[in-house]
Amino acid sequence: MWRAAVVVRALRGGGAGAPRAASGAAAAQLRQRLESELEDIRGAGTWKSERVIASRQGPHLRLAGGGGGIINFCANNYLGLSSHPEVIRAAVEALEKFGAGLSSVRFICGTQSIHKDLEKKIARFHQREDAILYASCFDANAGIFEALLTPEDAVLSDELNHASIIDGIRLCKANKYRYKHMDMQDLEAKLQEAQKHRLRLVATDGAFSMDGDIAPLREICQLAQKYDALVFIDECHATGFLGPNGRGTDELLGVMDKVTIVNSTLGKALGGAAGGYTTGPKPLIDLLRQRSRPYLFSNSLPPAVVGCASKALDLLMESNAIAKSMAAKTQRFRSKMTAAGFTISGKDHPICPVMLGDARLASVMAEDMLNRGIYVIGFSYPVVPKGKARIRVQISAVHSDEDIDRCVEAFTEVGRKHGALP
Ligand code: PLP
Repeated sequence: MWRAAVVVRALRGGGAGAPRAASGAAAAQLRQRLESELEDIRGAGTWKSERVIASRQGPHLRLAGGGGGIINFCANNYLGLSSHPEVIRAAVEALEKFGAGLSSVRFICGTQSIHKDLEKKIARFHQREDAILYASCFDANAGIFEALLTPEDAVLSDELNHASIIDGIRLCKANKYRYKHMDMQDLEAKLQEAQKHRLRLVATDGAFSMDGDIAPLREICQLAQKYDALVFIDECHATGFLGPNGRGTDELLGVMDKVTIVNSTLGKALGGAAGGYTTGPKPLIDLLRQRSRPYLFSNSLPPAVVGCASKALDLLMESNAIAKSMAAKTQRFRSKMTAAGFTISGKDHPICPVMLGDARLASVMAEDMLNRGIYVIGFSYPVVPKGKARIRVQISAVHSDEDIDRCVEAFTEVGRKHGALP
């Protein structure tokens, strides 16, 4: 009797542990609407699929269900610290000493000595007064504008800023101005318009992740000074490797004392685990601890994650050798690809977009690169403007010269095959 019931359930696909579909007209209507929306995404050719990695993050990967030996050129692992043995060891030690997690937000019972130490270290690294940790930089960006700006104030944002800045600005009640990408004339015009407000904050990515271009921070800071504005930068694609000591875009362009607020991530060059932060004037950080909603209402960073980031910062503060090695690899890739006939957008940044124009070309070339063991990703509209499709290559300090050369060779072969090169 019991066995018969199990067999019937198995045949219906409803065995123990099988997903249960919610019943009722509303659930059915929702399912239909979602399926039609998903079909639209597939139809528009913008479906994002996820490749499953069966190894650690690093320059060489094994993909699930496939072979190993894939050379990875699409992680934000700029300094190769995501699987650095000392970073992993620091995570294990923090896990053992401080446990798996805090089961709490920071202000209830979620602050450990390692959280305070990491905040001090981040502030020291950026030469700022204080720092505050978040679960991600997305959260840091979501939390800062609402806490800082009121309807009396204004925020001026580069039109190509990261989605998290755009969302953070949406959440605040300040007056919003969007200036054309890195266009200083337009920023100046918007700053003039914004003179009527109490406070002006210019917000920009330090380095833009789709183009590998770097914000003209010197000019932005000059305009900010002229029109009495503050400057905020998102340094996710700069912290740890831009500038002579890897402090970021503000160090690279000599304006560390002119940029007021820096937001960045622990999830890219700084060990790659997760987490984000704001660093800047102490009263601002104090205010964020009181008012910033993603900080107040979300769990503390897990100790292992704190351990990774803390060790990554130690390694960078000891020496700039890793950052220098990444810069040399970047230079090798950019110059060899340019000599081969490709156009690489941006300048001196490890984000190296190989500009192709046509969306289909970018997609088939990326697929063919993977067939040759090189993992790169094609980007097309709506992620980048129409007609500006590209394959984005990201260089890491742990790529060998041979890895870089193999990538250039594969691009050359695949480019010739698909007509991107003569
Ligand atoms: N800002 C920029 C410019 C980014 O590229 C990203 C990540 O993609 C974020 C913010 C969000 O960072 P996190 O992954 O820490 O949430």
